[in-house]
Amino acid sequence: MGDTFRSTAETDVQYVKGVGEARAALLHKAGIETVEDLLTYIPRRYLDRSTIMKISQVSEGEDVTVVGRIVKIKKIPRPHQRLIITIYDKTGILDGVWFNQVDYFQKVFKEDQEVAFSGKIGFYRGWQIVHPDFDIIEESKEQLHTGQIIPLYPSGQELRSRGLSSRGFRRIIYNALDKYGDAVSENLPEMLLNLYRLRERPEAIRKIHFPEKMSDIHESLRRLKYEELFYLEILMALRHFQHRSPVKGITMKTSGETIRKVLNKVTYELTGAQRRVLREIYDDLRSGHPMNRLLQGDVGSGKTVVALISALIAIENSYQVALMAPTEILAEQHYLNIRELLSGTGIEPRILTGSLKSQTKKELHSALKEGDLSLVIGTHALVQEAVEFRKLGLVIIDEQHRFGVLQRGELIAKGWNPHVLVMTATPIPRTMAMTLYGDLDTSVIDEMPPGRKTVITAWRTEKKLPEVYKFIREKIKAGEQAYIVYPLVEESEKMDLKAATESFEFLRNHIFKDFNLALLHGRMKSSDKETAMQQFKKGEIQILVSTSVIEVGVDVPQSTIMLIEHAERFGLSQLHQLRGRVGRGSKKSYCILITPEDINETARQRMKMIEKTTDGFVIAEEDLRLRGSGEFFGTRQHGLPDLKYSDLVEDRKIIETARQDAFAIIEKDPQLRLPENQKIRDYFKIKYQEKYQLIQIS
Ligand code: ADP
Ligand code: MG
Repeated sequence: MGDTFRSTAETDVQYVKGVGEARAALLHKAGIETVEDLLTYIPRRYLDRSTIMKISQVSEGEDVTVVGRIVKIKKIPRPHQRLIITIYDKTGILDGVWFNQVDYFQKVFKEDQEVAFSGKIGFYRGWQIVHPDFDIIEESKEQLHTGQIIPLYPSGQELRSRGLSSRGFRRIIYNALDKYGDAVSENLPEMLLNLYRLRERPEAIRKIHFPEKMSDIHESLRRLKYEELFYLEILMALRHFQHRSPVKGITMKTSGETIRKVLNKVTYELTGAQRRVLREIYDDLRSGHPMNRLLQGDVGSGKTVVALISALIAIENSYQVALMAPTEILAEQHYLNIRELLSGTGIEPRILTGSLKSQTKKELHSALKEGDLSLVIGTHALVQEAVEFRKLGLVIIDEQHRFGVLQRGELIAKGWNPHVLVMTATPIPRTMAMTLYGDLDTSVIDEMPPGRKTVITAWRTEKKLPEVYKFIREKIKAGEQAYIVYPLVEESEKMDLKAATESFEFLRNHIFKDFNLALLHGRMKSSDKETAMQQFKKGEIQILVSTSVIEVGVDVPQSTIMLIEHAERFGLSQLHQLRGRVGRGSKKSYCILITPEDINETARQRMKMIEKTTDGFVIAEEDLRLRGSGEFFGTRQHGLPDLKYSDLVEDRKIIETARQDAFAIIEKDPQLRLPENQKIRDYFKIKYQEKYQLIQIS
């Protein structure tokens, strides 16, 4: 069985009839390399002939699909450039109209082709649909296209130009099924197929492409989604049980003395929630099993001190601790805070980032290897090969959502079953949390330190900047401090950096020339960053102008204003994080979002959302709704496999079921050695083991 699966997975798509070398190259580029990839390239949607509307029956404003032959292709030149494709379906005529990419679309269509147009009916000298969703469905000779339900495949401009429109895909997939359809093998145990009455894989794959009735689509998809999510959860379950089951962890105890010393230095009492999660962490540390825990808490809930106390326990037991942060600035921030809190305890933390001089790095590496250094704070520089620990006992990862799961694994691999604490401020819906962090136990800080004031949030357009600046000047004269943030996205980094730098110069030389300003961005030397942060903390600098590097973690209680330029370019969760930088002291704080006048509707919705709510969970849900789960989570970024059929939000019921099943199987058979699990083992190895080498099934 395993072998037959291998055959579709190992056969290059080039050998499918009708593909050949040139098309194969294009398909490879689109991620379709093997026959298996092609067979699992599923339709984007379907056209059901029985629900196609006759043109004579359409009415204005209705959303419809019509199918007809192209009778005229007409390009209207500038200045009112547009392309009009007229179709006829024996009952009437209708125009498809394009205002954009006219030349491109002109080449897409040919007279006499049969096409489907979908969209809202309008009326302008006749029925029309502007920018219809369209498909070329021609050629009725071949029986594979005469069915009631026509599958439509996603296909970009390049694929189309090679004859791989929906129609082209239908043809090659038909050929692939013809020759390799019987080689598609089952990858789920029969028990599960029976339990959920799932279709067998070969049938599901066949019918997802060539359904006879609408229920074929639904049933085939249900099966493929279950399969996909089941294997995702098998991956999570393997991780989960391999972390804990056979291995003995380090048992740690504390007398509480160092902790008391440090707690005496902070001016506040721990909140009930902080105390509760510390107890949960301590229970793990002394349990004899490696801790594997996620600490969730909204921005400003006080995760750092919890992390520090956990670190102290490990150090008291003569183990080393590594704290990894996603950016240099955040690492520096942690370093400065923690160094101060630890003064007088005899524990000297050090910082390790990529931008250190190589001599310093070498010193640090050797100190870690010799065990002379008990607490190291750093960036992903910590997971580099050269870094070795003598006795790594606790790994703390801050703002986990910024790291891939793999990086987490790399750091863990540097110790002998060290305890692991990962922290995140991004609140995420439950099912997603389960999937992303499904291998972790969870602790939540669900209570803010007392006395926090709600940050007043206001959205203003650029026109209002003079008033906003005036407001900021008044606040600064009264002894408060401000952040001004500019967007910086990777794709346009150079331009963004230039814009931020220019604005900084302008603000410093004109608007705020009687105050002290500093610029902070990721490209600066580490020592310059540290100086800027220090000066801002001490109040020597009143306005910190920065790119989004301060998004996470930075903590300066006396700053009360967060001004965000081009707020429309930030995601909701990012804006929420930025806002979390203020409102940490006793004074009233403000978050001001600046956008151009003419932003689009979703951007408007985002601004209004941030204005009216401060609840991180509500914001995360909304972010998800506006952006879709794909973009929100970019599964790849998290080191999870891409999902072909399923959606982490829509399919949450299936996820839950698949998860229970997968966990039950792995709990009973952590190495997948039982004969009844042979199929799972074979498929998992082929599909995932290469990518997830940290997971061992021998
Ligand atoms: P985050 O959870 O976002 O990492 P931090 O750990 O940076 O939050 O804490 C935010 C601020 O709250 C810091 O200034 C910290 O000193 C302060 N803080 C933490 N715990 C408490 C508490 N129990 N009472 C008052 N202030 C606290
Ligand atoms: Mg933090």
